[in-house]
Amino acid sequence: SDHRLSYPLSPAEMDWSDYFPAYFSKKRKLDDTTDDSVESEQPPADSNNGTTLDRKKVEVADIGCGFGGLLISLAPTFPDTLILGMEIRTQVTAYVQDRINALRTQSLSRKGGDQEEVPGGYQNIGVIRGNAMKFLPNFFEKHQLSKMFFCFPDPHFKARKHKARIISPTLLSEYAYILRPGGIIYTITDVEDLHLWMAKHLDEHPMFERLPEEEQEEDVCVKIMRTDTEEGKKVARNKGSKWVACFRKIEDPI
Ligand code: SAM
Repeated sequence: SDHRLSYPLSPAEMDWSDYFPAYFSKKRKLDDTTDDSVESEQPPADSNNGTTLDRKKVEVADIGCGFGGLLISLAPTFPDTLILGMEIRTQVTAYVQDRINALRTQSLSRKGGDQEEVPGGYQNIGVIRGNAMKFLPNFFEKHQLSKMFFCFPDPHFKARKHKARIISPTLLSEYAYILRPGGIIYTITDVEDLHLWMAKHLDEHPMFERLPEEEQEEDVCVKIMRTDTEEGKKVARNKGSKWVACFRKIEDPI
C-alpha cells in the first residue's frame, strides 16, 4: 500500500539533498522560521569537494529497482549523471540505501589510498521509495530524463491484472512527458508474454519508435541490464531467456 508515501507537489519542490548529498544543498522549508538575513550570511552553495551544488538534475530512472544491482553498475559507467532508483517496497529501498552508503564510504576511504578510485564515488546514484505508477510527474519535469529502465517488472500474469502492469498506454504518455526527445526506454523481462505486451504498447504509442537491433546490442546499458540486476542474475542461474526491447522517444510534434 502506498497511502503513506510522501512526494513533492511539483518537481521544483523536491529536495534531492538527502538522496544526492554531494550534488544538492538542503532546501529551506516554507515554514522555516529562520530569519532571511541568516540565509544571506551563509556561504554560497556552490562547492562541495569540487562538485557544483544544485546545478544537476536526475537524468536516469530505474523503475522498480529492486535490490539496486543496475544502479550500482551504472554508477561508474556514467559518473557525471544522476541516476535514481524508485522502489515501492520499504525494506528493499532501505537495503539499497544501505548499499549505496557503504559504497560511498568505501570509495571515500580509497581516496588517497593505494586502491583505484571508482569514478563518481557512488555519489551519483540514489534510491527513493515511491509508486512509479502514480507520482512520477511530481518528481520529474517535462523532458528531464534521458533514460528509463524497466528491468524484470512484475508480470501480473492474469488478464484481469494486466492493468497493474507498469507499461500501459496511459503510463507511456506520462513517461513520454518526462523523457526528453531522443531519450530511451529500456525494457527486459524473462516472461515472453510480458515482453510482447510491452513491445506492442510501445510500438503502438505515437511518441516512441523501436531502436534497431544493432543499435540496441551496441548500447552499454543493454549489456549491463542483461547481466547486473538481481532478477537477471536469478534468471541466468535458472537458464531462463531474457527478452529486451528498447524504444526512443521521438521529437515532440510542434
Ligand atoms: N528491477 C529489479 C531487478 O531486475 O532485479 C527488480 C525486479 S522485481 C521482479 C520488480 C520490482 O518492482 C520489485 O522490487 C517491486 O517491489 C517493484 N515495484 C513493483 N511495482 C512498483 C511500483 N509501482 N513502483 C515502484 N516499484 C515497483
